Formats: sequence, structure tokens, C-alpha cells
Amino acid sequence: MGQEQAVKSSDTAARAGQSRPDELVPSRYAVRVGDIDVLVISDGVLEPPAESMATNADPATRDAWLDTMFLPHDTFDWALNAVVVRSGSQTILIDSGIGGEVPDFPRAGQFGHRLAAAGVDLETVTDVVLTHMHFDHVGGLLVDGVKERLRPDLRIHVSAAEATFWEAPDFSRTGMPPALAEVARSAATRFLKEYRHQLQTFETEQEVAPGVVVARTGGHTPGHSVVRITSGKDRLMFGGDAIFPVSFDHPEWHNGFEHDPEEATRVRLRLMRELTETGAWLVSTHMPFPSVGRVAASGDLFRWVPAWWDY
Ligand SMILES: [Zn+2]
Repeated sequence: MGQEQAVKSSDTAARAGQSRPDELVPSRYAVRVGDIDVLVISDGVLEPPAESMATNADPATRDAWLDTMFLPHDTFDWALNAVVVRSGSQTILIDSGIGGEVPDFPRAGQFGHRLAAAGVDLETVTDVVLTHMHFDHVGGLLVDGVKERLRPDLRIHVSAAEATFWEAPDFSRTGMPPALAEVARSAATRFLKEYRHQLQTFETEQEVAPGVVVARTGGHTPGHSVVRITSGKDRLMFGGDAIFPVSFDHPEWHNGFEHDPEEATRVRLRLMRELTETGAWLVSTHMPFPSVGRVAASGDLFRWVPAWWDY
């Protein structure tokens, strides 16, 4: 089967919400953090416009970087990952993929059927943690039929600042295409309408389960948060949208989806320094699947050190 054909048939299956036992690439990757199980699930790949990767770099510099990555100059590939965490008796989803929010990104939106293929029933999920409320993180919860399958006592943890921000969002500092800003506004509005009564908001941080702590960083969005998972000597951070693939070469580049790009850069540098010092694993929404690695200091820059595939 050619790649194009494989992509097309998986797209059809994704829309139908079916599991595809014959998927040609792995879509889940398990990590143990002490007594806590972490499962990374790929939602697929987004294709945002290249301008949104670096709104403060001149186009020639940006194009040169894209060339080094063998990427075209118009759009770039951006992985999309979400995570399932099992700690004690709790099953926690961190983010939920893009769902059907952007039909122009046909390679993404696969979280639902891949979650099922990984043996995770929505009925067993006790908690959802949202790093923030952009459409590629809440979209999976807006897919038809999903809410009905979730437990009525499901807790959805999100920072109070994030929930407040999306009541009247400000896009003035972002560099995303207007159509995607509209998708962001619409998805967050529908999410709040559907799930408002299940929100468990926190100000700075919240222990969601033993060893699983969500903490607000701000920057990317005012309430953007990361999740730190600790058990025994093992540590892992789910970094959400604080650190991108390009951040290792250009941590100072402003991403078009950042609502406060200067603060997002400060947050990024602080978290990257923390990761070099602690040696914690990083799983990051938009790093290539399985998105598990460590951050090493390399002179003034940082280096991504991918995990050896193992379990
Ligand atoms: Zn994102």
C-alpha cells in the first residue's frame, strides 16, 4: 500500500471512529514512571502554515531552517500527541487531540480510534487534565458521541486563568491565520458550554492523582499548564505547548499560536533549564511521536535526546 493510500484509508477510518488493526505505523508508546503508567498516543500530524512557526524571524531565515529539516516552505509537519496516565485507581487523559475541528488537517484527529485500539475505554477515564483549551487539545472531547460515553462524575482539571481567558479570548498578539483563530474561539466556546459543570479549576497547581501534579505556566495561553509526574526516583513532564521541535534550535522564535509570545519564550527557557537539571523525561504535544526524550544542555542551546524504544 502506498503512503498516500494508507493515509487516505486511515482518514476514512478515523472519521468512522473505527479501530484499524492493520495500521502500518505504531500509534501508542508506553513508559513507566516508577509505579505510574504513561501511554503516549498519536493523534496524527498537523500541517500549519509555515509563517506560524516563527512570527519574529525573517522569512529567509525561516525558510533556511525549514530546508535543514527537509520541510517545504508553505506548511510544516507538526506531530500531535496526547497521553493516558494510570496512577493508583485513576485513569487520566491529558489533552484529547484535535477531533474533527479542522478538516484541512486530514492526517490528524485519530486519537479516538487509537485510544480504543490501545484498550482504553472512555468509560474508565476518571480525570481529564487540559494543558490549555486550544482546539488541538480539546477537540477530541467535542467529537460526536464522546461526552455520552464519559462518566458523569468525570473531573476535568484546567487552570482557572484558562477557563476565564476563553470567556473573552484575546488574539491580538498571536500570528495564526484568521480561520484558525475562529476555530480556536469556536472550539473553546463549545467546550465550555458542554463541560463547564465538570471543570475543577486551580490557581497555581493541583495534585490530580498520587504523583501527578498539574501546574500553570502561562505564556502560550494565560492558563497554559504542564503536568509533572513523579514516582520514586523517576520523573516525567508533559510539557503541552511550551516546547516545540524548533525550540531546540531557536527557543527565541515566537510561535504564531502563542497569546503572549515573550512570556511563552521565558516559560520555554525556564522549563528547558529545569529539564536539563532534573533529567526528567519530557513528552511534548508537538514533538515527533513517541515524543519521549530528555533535554540536554549544549552550550547556549538545548539538545533533544530521544528515548530508546523500550518497556
Ligand atoms: Zn497545540
